[in-house]
Amino acid sequence: MPFDTSLDNAPETLARLALAAGSRPDLTQGGGGNVSLKLNSERMLIKASGVKLKDVSPEGGYALVNYGNIRRRIASGPGSEGEFSDYICSQTLPVKGIKDAKPSIETGFHSLLNTVVIHTHSVYANMLNMSVEGAALGKEMFPQAEFIAYKSPGPQLCSAINDRARAAGHQVFFLANHGLAVANAGVLGALELNERVNDTIRRGLSLPPYPASDPAAGLSTYNSARLAHYGARFILENVLSPDQALYCGPEALEGRGEMEAVNEVLTALFYIMDCMKTLNLTPRFLSKADVLYFDAMKSGRYSRK
Ligand SMILES: [Zn+2]
Repeated sequence: MPFDTSLDNAPETLARLALAAGSRPDLTQGGGGNVSLKLNSERMLIKASGVKLKDVSPEGGYALVNYGNIRRRIASGPGSEGEFSDYICSQTLPVKGIKDAKPSIETGFHSLLNTVVIHTHSVYANMLNMSVEGAALGKEMFPQAEFIAYKSPGPQLCSAINDRARAAGHQVFFLANHGLAVANAGVLGALELNERVNDTIRRGLSLPPYPASDPAAGLSTYNSARLAHYGARFILENVLSPDQALYCGPEALEGRGEMEAVNEVLTALFYIMDCMKTLNLTPRFLSKADVLYFDAMKSGRYSRK
């Protein structure tokens, strides 16, 4: 029998989490980030691939998966990128009245953590995740948190998180050159934990206010000015995150493409790079091999997030 959303308030709870995590461009940009909610020991609701967090509603934008099977698959070796992605899709269960949706590529690591998981590409966490000195600074602020070295999204990242994940208790994961994941047994606990981690970094590093967004058909005024400062060539040759690799190609830097997402990703990138300079932090760019992975991803069947 398909999962019936009219008999369960979990889709509403998921949408509330998604709105809290997804309505701030300093926490998520473009289609980045995702939230999930476990219903029991086997089933989990998670944002669908290609959907923005703020567009998740009780009526759609999410998928139901058997995360118990996904956990067991990761524990026994997730396999290659393609095999693992196919396996996650094969664990999708029907939801009554909701169009079938592909679960996020990040469903794997959500499966490993406590009941409620909020994963964002927070610019505050990424100040630590994207700098050489960041993990040491972060360990002083958050002695209990886990700091995971950079892995491509997918099976490699899941295996790295699996080694440190606890199915119970609250947890904070800093994912190098990527983002933040917090997990808690309850919805309010997860929202508070997410807020607390971001506030602690913002205050701890005395970070300036995040630039207001400036909707534009092409590049925003802020992004045009910062791009002129750094130079398009520098931005194309030095990649700090998967989002930059996926969204900020040569056309995007000329103001063509999915500009709402491009502007959000660029503002986050420039804010992080400007703050790092002020704080004397050293940016740690992705290797050429890590960047090439995203070229294959863009031309292949894996959609964003
Ligand atoms: Zn992510």
